[in-house]
Amino acid sequence: MPDKRMKTYVVGFPRIGERRELKKVLEKFWSRKITFDSVIKITRILRKKHWFYQKEAGIDFISSNDFSLYDSMLDTAIMLGAIPERFERIRDGHERYFAMARGAQGTEAMEMTKWFNTNYHYIVPELSKDMGFSLNPKKLINEYREARELRIKTKINVIGPITFLTLSKRVDGDDDTLSLLPQILPHYVSLLNQLARLDDEIVIQFDEPSLVRDPDPRTLDLFRSSYEALNRVDSNLKLVVMTYFDHAKEAVKALKGIPVYGVGLDFVHGRENLDALTDTEGKKVIAGLVDGRNVWRNDYEKTLALLGTIENHVDSQDIILSTSCSLLHTPYSLEHEEMMEQEIRSWMSFSREKLRELTDISTIFYEGGFGVASNGAFEQNRKIIQERYSSSRVLNKAVRRRVRSIGSKKREGTFPARNEVQKQLFALPLLPTTTIGSFPQTEEIRRLRQDYKNGTISDKEYGEGIRRYIDLCLEFQQTIGLDVLVHGEPERNDMVEYFAEKLSGFLLTQNGWVQSYGSRCVKPPVIYGDTARPKPMTVDIISYAQSKTTRFVKGILTGPVTILNWSFVRDDLERASVCEQIAVAIRDEIEDLQNAGIRMIQVDEAAFKEGYPLRKSRALEYEKWAVRCFQLAVSTAAPETQIHTHMCYSDFNDIIHTIEKMDADVIAIETARSGNRLLKVFVERGYKNEIGPGIYDIHSPRVPSVKELEEKIRQRIKALPPVSRLWINPDCGLKTRDWDEVKQSLKNMAAAAKKIRRELGPEGEKPI
Ligand code: GLN
Ligand code: ZN
Repeated sequence: MPDKRMKTYVVGFPRIGERRELKKVLEKFWSRKITFDSVIKITRILRKKHWFYQKEAGIDFISSNDFSLYDSMLDTAIMLGAIPERFERIRDGHERYFAMARGAQGTEAMEMTKWFNTNYHYIVPELSKDMGFSLNPKKLINEYREARELRIKTKINVIGPITFLTLSKRVDGDDDTLSLLPQILPHYVSLLNQLARLDDEIVIQFDEPSLVRDPDPRTLDLFRSSYEALNRVDSNLKLVVMTYFDHAKEAVKALKGIPVYGVGLDFVHGRENLDALTDTEGKKVIAGLVDGRNVWRNDYEKTLALLGTIENHVDSQDIILSTSCSLLHTPYSLEHEEMMEQEIRSWMSFSREKLRELTDISTIFYEGGFGVASNGAFEQNRKIIQERYSSSRVLNKAVRRRVRSIGSKKREGTFPARNEVQKQLFALPLLPTTTIGSFPQTEEIRRLRQDYKNGTISDKEYGEGIRRYIDLCLEFQQTIGLDVLVHGEPERNDMVEYFAEKLSGFLLTQNGWVQSYGSRCVKPPVIYGDTARPKPMTVDIISYAQSKTTRFVKGILTGPVTILNWSFVRDDLERASVCEQIAVAIRDEIEDLQNAGIRMIQVDEAAFKEGYPLRKSRALEYEKWAVRCFQLAVSTAAPETQIHTHMCYSDFNDIIHTIEKMDADVIAIETARSGNRLLKVFVERGYKNEIGPGIYDIHSPRVPSVKELEEKIRQRIKALPPVSRLWINPDCGLKTRDWDEVKQSLKNMAAAAKKIRRELGPEGEKPI
């Protein structure tokens, strides 16, 4: 007799706390307001709460060690004794841990980077050949025991050896992290030996998402041999190899003949995993069918159909129903969204609601949809899903018609032709100086926005406050002699949220926080329906700024691809089509700015690169529509209007051809930390458009000297001739810095540019 319910599995649960308790307690601890005992107290409460949510929902596989005080990659580095030398002097364990994550007086933090194509950031372990790895399993074991004391038997999550190594970096001059496998694998083996003694039958989940990134034959070999060895350690252990975010066909094949207990496969973002099922050979298939990366209610009918297909390949006894990845990437619960309109809310599902979906689906699957145990859940789900798809809030025919009628559009004219017109018209000096847009977000300006939002000040008072800030910004920029000015973005809390508030089809949640890194969270907007711009979004403010000066003021907009990539996107329409609608809205805004006399407009695409799919075979498709949307957004700009763009990362090697196609008149990029290395690709490629390679790092409070900046400018001129094409600017926006730092740094930047300009002569004819 089969079990009346399919077993349910949660890859991992959020940890920051529904009220961001972890963030709050950590930040208090870091500023020495409380002791570590308070941190311990709060984190115990959080773990207990999270375990019970899952237990009460009836989840069969609940994790321990999905909790972290900062990040799980960092925890794994600690577990393996991979402590970089510079932290060894710090004796206290917690002090050392947080120093590795955040830096300490005189000791630089470890690098942080994006976790695959999510907006979560992990700490990059620093490895070297002779660092003396050792095993430190205390955290894992303690958390397992903690749950056990609460009568919850958990599976234990741990980052697998292949993913750990592929995401690490070497600091001893060699690039090959995988060659360190023989040094760390024995510690994984000892870990398993210790865990085997903890309890009967323990499930260990090895997270191996690296395997969805086009693994090469060597990686697959090492993967295979590692799990062969790990699976042999103790028959008391059940090993799950967990993958997510895309398909893992090659990995499943590589596990052939190795009888691990289960493989975790993502069927939401990796439909090709269906093909992989022919190679699962009686292993449990942890079927990721409830989306861990989005906020939409699961469509039971579709999911059940997919389960049916899976069942064609795998015995239903071997299917375990799961989230597609850790729920770390979705907010906690809709319970905390009192203000959300009921209709829209009924379409959504956050982490806790997803637990319920898992148990619903597992019950319905055996009942065929109409039994008593599921209590009408199937019918109810179907009704809500149908309402969603046919709601007038979702489908806006006028928007669809308009987007269709515009079609694909590009700007008129080629860059050389536009450039000639613009050079004449703007008559800027050589090496024109500018900034990326935002100026310091002072306490005062934050309060002003907050008061306005809460309704405690009038439109008039708010407007005056904003204009006062703009006046100050402009005055400062003129005094130090910058060439192209910005208004400073005082009206924006965040570059995406600001536009999301103004576009139809978007909503902002009250508490939809997801962890971004350490104690930091973001609250992505939700795109639920067709989107359009009911009225101009920035025209008043930019026109005001332009009216106050005879220099050019750049209008600053966030680009369509970035708005898309930093939002929760509806799942009933292709991302490309959603992006196209946003592009049309930005296009209208550019047209209005242009009609209001704004001559330079910057369209920021800070998140362009992170939208790239993990599989190379899918990259081309993304590039195609993302570039098309950018081109569409700027297509109303006349040749006389100068389009700028900005991207804040430093690796352009893979995407230089895309940058070329975007064809902005000027691109400002981050280069301060990487120096000339990254500019090489622009030279090799023969990139023709104008370019502003950032000359100082805005992430650091340090003020660069005039001399140092002159040197940076000289380097840029040498690396990237001709000089007529170069702009001088910082790496990114200045909103996180203090006014004092900004004033000094920009003053030095302007002075350095002037000095070099004099050396070069009016036409840039003299060598430097
Ligand atoms: N214009 C934005 C700013 O200056 C750009 C921010 C970003 O690229 N992250 O703040
Ligand atoms: Zn930036």
